[in-house]
Amino acid sequence: ATMPPLLSAIANAGRHGVLVKSAVVMERLGQVDQVALDKTGTLTEGVPHVVDIRALRGAGLTEDALLRLAAGAEHPSEHPLGRAIVEAARSRGLDVPAAADFSSAPGTGVTATVDGHRVAVGSPARLRTGRGAHPALAVAERLEERGRTAVLVDIDGAPAGVLGVTDRLRPDAAATVTALTALTGTAPVLLTGDNARAAAHLADQAGIGDVRAGLLPHDKVTAVQELERSGRNVLLVGDGVNDAPALAAAHTGIAMGRAGSDLALETAGAVIVRDELAAVPAVVGLSRRARRLVA
Ligand code: ADP
Ligand code: MG
Repeated sequence: ATMPPLLSAIANAGRHGVLVKSAVVMERLGQVDQVALDKTGTLTEGVPHVVDIRALRGAGLTEDALLRLAAGAEHPSEHPLGRAIVEAARSRGLDVPAAADFSSAPGTGVTATVDGHRVAVGSPARLRTGRGAHPALAVAERLEERGRTAVLVDIDGAPAGVLGVTDRLRPDAAATVTALTALTGTAPVLLTGDNARAAAHLADQAGIGDVRAGLLPHDKVTAVQELERSGRNVLLVGDGVNDAPALAAAHTGIAMGRAGSDLALETAGAVIVRDELAAVPAVVGLSRRARRLVA
């Protein structure tokens, strides 16, 4: 017997390294006319590195002491930034202390008790919300202007330092943006929880002009819904826990499989198993060809 076109398309997608979970998803991929991309781990490789360590003078910690406490708090985290901070501490030969009472807030950061201190690590804007200006914010801003993601380290409620983290654009990011624009007739948008300065720096390299930054998980949902209200079928490509609600809300969702969080992999209709962003335009094309055969 010959296989129905949508099922052969699923088999083909598999050869491109994409696991499409159902015939319905395979069909919906071909209806997409707007793509929204997450930044960290999706447009970028998701292997960020700590490149700056700024210990604030008033807090009296050395660079190593600051990094060590931050790494302790991040140790249980599955976020790429958390892994980068733990890795940075290890590569300096520091022992990473154990964390107690760990909690994480998607799009914001983590909090834990380390060596008897309450340590919070995360977005400077988010951690300082409603707490007034602080010299640490100026340090963070200078790092962001150089394309870094600035990570604030609070110890016992006061800023103790700022870490600068960078991540490389995926090698196929710019080509994928061009291919998706040609395929859908609309330029992809970037949705990110990261700061606007670092996001714009990166979007520029990928050829994306429409950047929506500083988004919490529910803001990503709102951004997707707004695009869909203007009549588009949105395909969201993401990898994080913070992307899961928007992956569920979008017309179709694809998760980056290699570094993707379990929640994103479960929520998305399709998973990119081989770590290539170029698989996105490939599967949209496969779906369109299959739909022509069905019709
Ligand atoms: P993106 O949407 O680009 O994938 P996220 O929503 O995952 O980014 O994160 C947004 C911001 O929240 C980060 O840039 C960082 O400032 C902060 N953040 C989230 N999780 C962590 C963490 N584990 N450690 C430090 N900062 C974090
Ligand atoms: Mg991400």
